[in-house]
Amino acid sequence: MRQCLNPDCLAPNPDESQFCQQCGDKLLIRERYWAKRVLGQGSFGRTFLAVDEDKPSKPPCVIKQFLPQAQGTDSMGASQFGNPHPKSLVC
Ligand SMILES: [Zn+2]
Repeated sequence: MRQCLNPDCLAPNPDESQFCQQCGDKLLIRERYWAKRVLGQGSFGRTFLAVDEDKPSKPPCVIKQFLPQAQGTDSMGASQFGNPHPKSLVC
């Protein structure tokens, strides 16, 4: 299963899917990582269990997604403008 990373969608998709069947978002992050499932969720955002598709061993990886509304939008808004789904990878 591939988990959609769109915060408003989060639909599960079959393996091998390139794009979410529900919202059309790309499922591959940086052309190599895709999310398997949600690991945790808090006021700061979400963490996803991901897979590094680019390596033969396909090692697990964690994607941290910080939701813009979780922080004061006055100070954070500028840096996140134009990036509705900020993500960072911890592998
Ligand atoms: Zn989606």
